[in-house]
Amino acid sequence: MVDVVAHLHEIEAIIRRVLNAQRREGEEQKRVDIICVSKTFETDVIEPLLIAGHRIFGENRVQEASVKWPQLKAIYPRVELHLIGPLQSNKVDLAFDLFDVFQTVDREKIAQKLAIKVKETGQKKKFFVQVNTGEEPQKAGISPTDVNDFIKFCSHELDLSITGLMCIPPADHQAAPHFAMLASLARQNDIQHLSMGMSEDYSIAVQLGASYVRVGSRIFGRR
Ligand SMILES: *Cc1c(COP(=O)(O)O)cnc(C)c1O
Repeated sequence: MVDVVAHLHEIEAIIRRVLNAQRREGEEQKRVDIICVSKTFETDVIEPLLIAGHRIFGENRVQEASVKWPQLKAIYPRVELHLIGPLQSNKVDLAFDLFDVFQTVDREKIAQKLAIKVKETGQKKKFFVQVNTGEEPQKAGISPTDVNDFIKFCSHELDLSITGLMCIPPADHQAAPHFAMLASLARQNDIQHLSMGMSEDYSIAVQLGASYVRVGSRIFGRR
């Protein structure tokens, strides 16, 4: 079996090196969290990471996560589960109970439904806006030109506080300009978290200010 814990430690070490190389005199060390993207993998592959103490995971399908995670969350306290795939409005109820961070808020209707759930339940969840930095027609996410207005809409009209931005750069592009754009949009809106970088480009994302990287295949092997 793939040694997922060893892979996670390798990635942690690489991130530490990138951060140390960037660090300036007197500056506080930045924090980057690794989201282990466990989509398509069964609980027996995920569990060694939980036993080793890792708590941050990502899934892209609500249905799949709802089969795997309730039991794991019951056994291992303080798991932080991130939804990193699309959220359909008929899945909001199911998703809301399961996930702690919603990274793919990308339209008014979904933001509205999530805001209602927050009011109804009083549960503390975190919300990120997905930005379609490459403006790809087939890809989810708010267009970069609409991001500022959408964040204002969420906070002013819905009282839904947005604490992060996430992006998935186009597959055939250099990722760096997309990461830089996301960082710039976060600065403009005074947003704390940046979820960017995957198995192939997480160290570039860290250089450009990621606070969360989403790593799947480098940890779990090929899907
Ligand atoms: C699958 C997935 C990842 C992880 O991709 P890897 O290349 O396997 O690291 C990251 N982000 C999102 C949104 C994904 O769907």
